[in-house]
Amino acid sequence: MQTYKNFQEYLVKELDSIQSAGLYKEERIIVSPQSASIKLQSGQEALNFCANNYLGLSDNHDIIEAAKKAMDSRGYGMSSVRFICGTQDLHKQLENAIARFFGMEDAILYAACFDANGGVFEPLLDENDAIISDALNHASIIDGVRLCKAVRYRYANADMNDLEKQLQIAQAQRFRLIVTDGVFSMDGNVAPLDKIHELAVKYNAMIMVDESHSAGVVGKTGRGTTEQFNLRGQIEIITGTLGKAFGGAIGGFTTGKKEIIAMLRQRSRPYLFSNSLPPAVAGAGIYTFNYLENSNKLQDQLHENTNYFVEKMKQAGFDIKPTQSAICAVMLYDAKLSQDMARKLLDEGIYVTGFYYPVVPKGQARIRLQISAAHQREQLDKCVQAFIKIGKELNVI
Ligand SMILES: *Cc1c(COP(=O)(O)O)cnc(C)c1O
Repeated sequence: MQTYKNFQEYLVKELDSIQSAGLYKEERIIVSPQSASIKLQSGQEALNFCANNYLGLSDNHDIIEAAKKAMDSRGYGMSSVRFICGTQDLHKQLENAIARFFGMEDAILYAACFDANGGVFEPLLDENDAIISDALNHASIIDGVRLCKAVRYRYANADMNDLEKQLQIAQAQRFRLIVTDGVFSMDGNVAPLDKIHELAVKYNAMIMVDESHSAGVVGKTGRGTTEQFNLRGQIEIITGTLGKAFGGAIGGFTTGKKEIIAMLRQRSRPYLFSNSLPPAVAGAGIYTFNYLENSNKLQDQLHENTNYFVEKMKQAGFDIKPTQSAICAVMLYDAKLSQDMARKLLDEGIYVTGFYYPVVPKGQARIRLQISAAHQREQLDKCVQAFIKIGKELNVI
């Protein structure tokens, strides 16, 4: 008992310091499906501008039906990892559909993209090799790289001069892998994959892109950064999530060269030692990718909505970070202002999140909005109007 008492005191103190630094994360409780419009436990209805529900598929009726059908025909859970007795026809079909969507040779499923990134480096590279990683890459990439013995290099966000410098030093190693997010989630900027590819060719390096925020969004048909830069099938590894544009439930994947995927099936620890995706998720995923293969309607709608919204916000005088995705960062620079503004916007029925240090650099506080294909034109207008009202009130515009 005494042991825990000391530890308890320590935790309470740490938690207090998180709270007094203003960094304590509260959870707002939603009592409706995820959608453009949501209902909070308080009874308040709000327009949601902070979900990763880019294609508006989180509450899609046909996807829900596909999930139910898969549960009826294949059951609820797998009670196994893939290589023991946890592989159904649905898992193979979903892997094929994902590989096809990204123009890759094969794909492997994980419980989440966090696991895909956690399990991609260590099986492929060792102390003879080099990983050259963008400084703003997602936490799961950073953790995955830590699990791998490869020599680590870091380059400033999307800075091609710095990447080139690191690649020159990394010539000392056997194999080189450049790793980048496709879209960086705080600014909404796209990784300059064309230039990264040129440098990869020049310095004999492979490329991995995490398309979590870009898949379904970036490129004319939402195939991600390789579509945007005309490099489909020309990079080695893509990781991504089923938890954002593709229905938003759960699940991640790595897709790429077939020998790479084959090695991951043998050696990737989150794949080998963690449960298979449930049939409902696999069945709904197959439906989703089949749907997207046959229609660009949602991607077109998302692009139209994003362009419309960003244009209106700029016209209203807001300082918007240049974006090439469905992420729209309204720059406020001041941490307290970002929190005050988000709170007042919620009173207006607009649900957005304010971000400040350490999530973004000091003095770079902002409200980040995420546009969805599901937002109706009048909902976008209502959001802009609320921003104008509160923006004037708080002397932002
Ligand atoms: C969201 C995200 C992840 C994590 O995806 P999950 O499937 O939720 O684990 C990984 N990488 C990036 C870049 C992301 O944005």
